[in-house]
Amino acid sequence: MSGVLVLNADLGPLHRVSLRHAIRMLLRQVAVVHEADHDRAIGAYPKPTVVRLVHYVVTRWRHSRGPAWSRSGVHARDGHRCGYCGRPAYTIDHIVPRSRGGLNTWLNTVAACGVCNQRKADRTPAEAGMTLRIVPSAPTWYSLAPR
Ligand SMILES: [Zn+2]
Repeated sequence: MSGVLVLNADLGPLHRVSLRHAIRMLLRQVAVVHEADHDRAIGAYPKPTVVRLVHYVVTRWRHSRGPAWSRSGVHARDGHRCGYCGRPAYTIDHIVPRSRGGLNTWLNTVAACGVCNQRKADRTPAEAGMTLRIVPSAPTWYSLAPR
């Protein structure tokens, strides 16, 4: 097996690094030798096969895909304003209408006032001659958080 296994401070295996990288970690004292191959030497030292981090690193960082689509989320993202005219919005418009297979996704929905929603009806904005004043995007948790 090539490389050196890096263990977290709690002995949980993290990943493999090159021997060169492992030695750099040892020299920087961010890791200590946990297991070594005593039959092989690097200079005066046995060749490390497993090193252990001195300080625990948090690896279970929650890689969230962001908030799931919701009507209230669309309104929050768009500031409760109509994506077409900017007036207060109380409905959700599907840019590609649901009747044409448009889905409940962040990119296909905008907050809309009743007037614009009715006017657009089962058409795309281009067909209805309407222009979106915003570019719909998928929000982050942070951007949806109340201010
Ligand atoms: Zn409107």
